[in-house]
Amino acid sequence: MKISVILGIILLQFVSARDYYEVLGVSRTATEKEIKRAYKKLSLKYHPDKNKDVPKEEAEKLFAEIAYAYEVLSDPDKRRTYDQHGEKAVQQGQTSGGNDPLSIFKRFMGGQDTTPGKKQKQPGRDLPAILECDLEELYIGTSVDIVVNHRTICPKCAGTGAKRGGMTTCPHCNGKGAYLQQQQTPIGILQMQKQCDHCQGTGKVVGQKCGKCKGEGTVLTEDKQVVFVDPGAKDGEEMSYQEMGDASSDYETGRLVLKIRERPHPLYTRKGNDLHTFVVISIHDALIGLEAKVKQLDGRTITIDRRGMCTAHGEVVKVPGEGMPIKDDVSFGVKGDLYVEFRVQFPQTLTEEQKKLVEQLFPETQKEKANSEQAKTEL
Ligand SMILES: [Zn+2]
Ligand SMILES: [Zn+2]
Repeated sequence: MKISVILGIILLQFVSARDYYEVLGVSRTATEKEIKRAYKKLSLKYHPDKNKDVPKEEAEKLFAEIAYAYEVLSDPDKRRTYDQHGEKAVQQGQTSGGNDPLSIFKRFMGGQDTTPGKKQKQPGRDLPAILECDLEELYIGTSVDIVVNHRTICPKCAGTGAKRGGMTTCPHCNGKGAYLQQQQTPIGILQMQKQCDHCQGTGKVVGQKCGKCKGEGTVLTEDKQVVFVDPGAKDGEEMSYQEMGDASSDYETGRLVLKIRERPHPLYTRKGNDLHTFVVISIHDALIGLEAKVKQLDGRTITIDRRGMCTAHGEVVKVPGEGMPIKDDVSFGVKGDLYVEFRVQFPQTLTEEQKKLVEQLFPETQKEKANSEQAKTEL
């Protein structure tokens, strides 16, 4: 117990002792732009919700560290204090609150303040798309390179839509973000504070529009993404990718939602985890017997031993464990079953000679026997 506490303290000291410039990986002479770029790159990399490689706790710690370093270095006053007097001086001059790393991140990404009283961002809209897959791809799994055309926050204006320094004080609320409204009531005059609709409570409006996004705050961006489809993935299954939907300064960046669509296969049909297929055999093989060969979706040949036995038209043989892989099954390698239907190719007509031979092989008595069997089942 004691050891872990000591370790915790050492770790904290180590973390807080790191140089802010070092944290962001920039030089001490880095420009505002370079700092911003470094922060964006690192915060996206270590965002606790996005990062799957690093344990959540560790990612949160790193993320907080990055956010704090950015908060100091992106503010000219704080940066000057830090450069001249170090970390302690910055912390002493720090006003309380507003240190939530996620809030700093959101403010940065959306160019909007998320402190209470200010307008909160709406949840983002999903960008839906269809991913068509062949049954072969769903059987063995596949990776697909896709190109996503979506709107991202304009890097030039950080989503404000305004030219650098082009944000002006909202004339409707004089920059307060809210205004007082008076209402006459039976008990006197009631004063209410209302959020300013013109600036959405931010107190600032776009004066001069950003040249890159024409004031939209977002730009059309082409992003590449590798999509992995697991073996056994099903038609209609959805895969989502955070931050790959459309961004806006009014709502959070949505997800890209890919829906798998299975292309029809000429030979195979899928029913749940089972596969159904068919083989066409000659009447000769149906009567004498055969080793039927079925080409599996991964290219293997499956042999069904029907030697020395007759096969009826429409007969279905089950091959256990040769169906689709079961994706969510914990025991890896578990598959459904394969059902193979035999379709016997009948001749159009028989010659007189063939008819005689059939008569010899299957005399009329057999026909009577079959009829009486049928009569029995009908009863
Ligand atoms: Zn306003
Ligand atoms: Zn812009």
